[in-house]
Amino acid sequence: MNEQFRTPPDSQSQAVLIDRLAEVAVRVGLGLKPGQELVMTAPLEALALARRITEHAYKAGASLVTTFFSDEESSLLRYRHGRDEGFDTASDWLYEGMAAAFRNGAARLAIVGEDPSLLAKEDPEKVSRANRARSKAYMPALSLIAGSDINWTIVAAATPAWARAVFPNDPEDVAVSKLWKAIFAASRADTPDPIKAWEAHNAELHARMRMLNEKNYAALHFRGPGTDLRVGLAEGHEWRGGSGKAKNGVVCNANIPTEEVFTTPHKDRVDGHVSSTKPLSYQGTLIQDIQVTFEGGKIVEAKARTGEAVLNKVLETDEGSRRLGEVALVPHSSPISQSGLLFLNTLFDENASSHIALGQAYSKCIRGGGAMSEDELASRGSNKSLIHIDWMIGSDRVDVDGITQDGRAEPLMRGGEWVSA
Ligand code: ZN
Ligand code: ZN
Repeated sequence: MNEQFRTPPDSQSQAVLIDRLAEVAVRVGLGLKPGQELVMTAPLEALALARRITEHAYKAGASLVTTFFSDEESSLLRYRHGRDEGFDTASDWLYEGMAAAFRNGAARLAIVGEDPSLLAKEDPEKVSRANRARSKAYMPALSLIAGSDINWTIVAAATPAWARAVFPNDPEDVAVSKLWKAIFAASRADTPDPIKAWEAHNAELHARMRMLNEKNYAALHFRGPGTDLRVGLAEGHEWRGGSGKAKNGVVCNANIPTEEVFTTPHKDRVDGHVSSTKPLSYQGTLIQDIQVTFEGGKIVEAKARTGEAVLNKVLETDEGSRRLGEVALVPHSSPISQSGLLFLNTLFDENASSHIALGQAYSKCIRGGGAMSEDELASRGSNKSLIHIDWMIGSDRVDVDGITQDGRAEPLMRGGEWVSA
């Protein structure tokens, strides 16, 4: 028997597809330029993908690839044995170093694949303190990413813990290969020419984005079961979607996969009620059947069938956590929605349906926003918060109208699909 036959055909094609996904991550996701440094973060279990990305990055001319691996079991040990006051501590020095690398021209790649319920059994108070400390420490680096100063991207790897959560009824190895398959499909790595497929996909998203920017709607109106919500849009809002040029001049796709066009809502002009159409997986808690009421942009009542206490805790994070920082349109026919899977990971689930996000807005979704002060951004209606949590409000039963500046309603989506092709 020769070597080739001893390798199960499935794992062989999996290795090929992991390599293609790595190529998509470097060429489409990052658009990495010769001479550029790359800073990567990855779970230990994503080593195979991290290595292929490293290879493609050097082939693309990277000057240096530095990868920080994380281990979930080690993270849990902190909750078991760490001192209480330690939960207000974060690795400031690491994030400052990352920010310095970005300012010096490095690109950023994150491989995600975390266990969705890793922290589910830990003290929520400690989890929230640790998150807050980390968010604060990460801010200098994150602002360079969120402000598109640099080219960056996020891709996913099928880790055992994540796969077990998505496919609880399968043995681990089956679950992992099913999750890889779903990741390859959603990331278009399984198409004959993934780079071309992404060019076509980006062109489609750009056309949608241009249409919405020309319309310059004052608001969007969502209607469906349990939903009648008017989302005012920020003044000078700009729609984004697909690839975009970072301030360093490099064209990148920040999320692999991506199916959304999105913009900034007006933080004071959201009114009505809205129901979630898919569960929200938030740090190990599944928050299901969310129903919230907005008045003057602020959530005044929030209910959920499961996870209501966690939801209300999140809403108390800060001044901006009860207001919206993003609204996004995704057709129901998106490949991720059609897969019928709940990935328990925002990178995938937010691309299954139209969604809104509580918390921080993107300054790049305001025309000229990159150069504006926080006060200027706020005066346009852009929200500020430590959190940014996307949750799904679209389905094949939800209609969306665009409300023109003079108050007319134009049909945008019917039964979850775009009205105009
Ligand atoms: Zn989004
Ligand atoms: Zn978002």
